[in-house]
Amino acid sequence: MDEFDLDTLAVRAGIERSQFGEHSEALYLTSSYVFGSAAEAAARFSGEAEGNVYSRFTNPTVTALQTRLAALEGAERCVATSSGMSAILSMAMALLKAGDHVIASRGLFGSTQQLFGNILAKFGIETTFVPATDLAAYRAAVKPATRLFFVETPSNPLTELVDIAAVADIAHGAGALLAVDNCFCSPVLQRPLEHGADIVIHSATKYLDGQGRVLGGAVLGKHDTMEEVFKFLRTAGPSISPFNAWVILKGLETLRIRMQAQSANALTLAQWLEAQPAVERVYYPGLPSHPQYALAQRQQKTGGAVVAFEVKGGREGAWKVVDNARMVSITANLGDTKTTITHPATTTHGRISQESRDAAGIRDGLLRMAIGLESVEDIKADLARGLSLV
Ligand SMILES: *Cc1c(COP(=O)(O)O)cnc(C)c1O
Repeated sequence: MDEFDLDTLAVRAGIERSQFGEHSEALYLTSSYVFGSAAEAAARFSGEAEGNVYSRFTNPTVTALQTRLAALEGAERCVATSSGMSAILSMAMALLKAGDHVIASRGLFGSTQQLFGNILAKFGIETTFVPATDLAAYRAAVKPATRLFFVETPSNPLTELVDIAAVADIAHGAGALLAVDNCFCSPVLQRPLEHGADIVIHSATKYLDGQGRVLGGAVLGKHDTMEEVFKFLRTAGPSISPFNAWVILKGLETLRIRMQAQSANALTLAQWLEAQPAVERVYYPGLPSHPQYALAQRQQKTGGAVVAFEVKGGREGAWKVVDNARMVSITANLGDTKTTITHPATTTHGRISQESRDAAGIRDGLLRMAIGLESVEDIKADLARGLSLV
């Protein structure tokens, strides 16, 4: 379906109708599959004949999701996983070994940081974390054993952008692969493979499902690279449930209109926040005041749906805004149609020292919001109440 536009692919790619000719994607809840003969069973097991064997390996609903996501990212192949974290783990287990070195951008999703910094380290895979926007630091971190660069853009919560094309050049010059966690943008706003990345990672739990219902993840890239990821997954088992795959398939159908509407709300809100006397600074890649506005214009279609801002009065001021919100949800989740607000310094970044928080720029007055589909006027009114008390 390569000739079709993204809007069409999001609705139609990956559909293979059964004998019943169903119009909507079928949900195949089965753990195993029946063979017509001993010879057919043998051929399927050996891989000589195509077809399903066991749902830890493949399942038709999961295959439909993989086909659709690969079409949206412009990837040769997609391997779907049980969560975003198991996507990153599967990629790492498939492509890295003891003695290998990874270069990762600082400010990654907390569990990703733990995975590279602590868990993979136990197995002899070393990771150097570098400032997300400092290209010289990526170059300086290269070692003979460097095999993988791993970045997230925009970063959470400060919306710093990684220049994907520039980091891809550095990675390729070092003989390494570049993986981009595309969770915040989704393929609607950013297609990392077009900028030179080799691998795309998704937490489908966020915008791809988009309605806060299920966990899921995906690894996408070249056929041979994904074959290694698939071999790990079918053996180790972080496979996605067919039910979750089906929910995410349906979520993809509205991905573009959700991302555009949520981005438009986010831009309106960011502009409004910049004009509020109680707000000291707004972090949003869609605002000309963002230090990497030019890169954002090149690399992403919109500024995305995540907005961070600092209010006056430090922690006290920030908590006033949170506690006076009646409608937006106080939760660290994002990617939902429902707007969320979180105070990073006392939640997602609460366990790190004040010193490291200061170094990372996570100040006490900082709030992060993931903007949903509600009326932006209602979101403004919900914040205005607290802001007037700061
Ligand atoms: C949530 C998230 C993950 C992890 O995904 P899960 O589906 O929760 O395992 C990874 N990266 C980013 C950027 C995320 O926001």
